Amino acid sequence: MAKHHNPNLVKINRSYTVEEAANIFPVHKNTVRSWIKNGLEICGNQKPWLILGSELKEFIQLKRKKNKQTCKPYEMYCFSCRAPKRPAGNMADYEPMNASRGCLIGICSTCDGIINKYFSLAKLVLIHGKLDVTLPKAQKHISKRDDLLLNSDLNK
Ligand SMILES: [Zn+2]
Repeated sequence: MAKHHNPNLVKINRSYTVEEAANIFPVHKNTVRSWIKNGLEICGNQKPWLILGSELKEFIQLKRKKNKQTCKPYEMYCFSCRAPKRPAGNMADYEPMNASRGCLIGICSTCDGIINKYFSLAKLVLIHGKLDVTLPKAQKHISKRDDLLLNSDLNK
């Protein structure tokens, strides 16, 4: 699991070498190098690499956001609570956008706001038993038949 690094440890008006940046959190130097590979900006192309504090801070903040947004299949991200949430009553509606993809919509169990996410029809089996998913009427008889197909897909 990714650790949560505190972006507030970074001073935005100074620059850091890879070693100094690694010492802040602390992480291994190679971790900082992998951040640079993954888009952390450096000043110029010459070694030693210098990382602007403001860039480092922004990068860590983005990283944290990404980590937080990792939802379990039965969770949806609530923008009010800023956290993945299970829908209230474990109930969600599935609204198809096309034959294979759609949107899973529920109510946040904490703030009563609408939470939703894109979901493929084929993945509904993953949340079977976790969430009570309501399909639109037209979809219902199709999904019954698809259940068999979906299950055989999973067993491949
Ligand atoms: Zn919420």
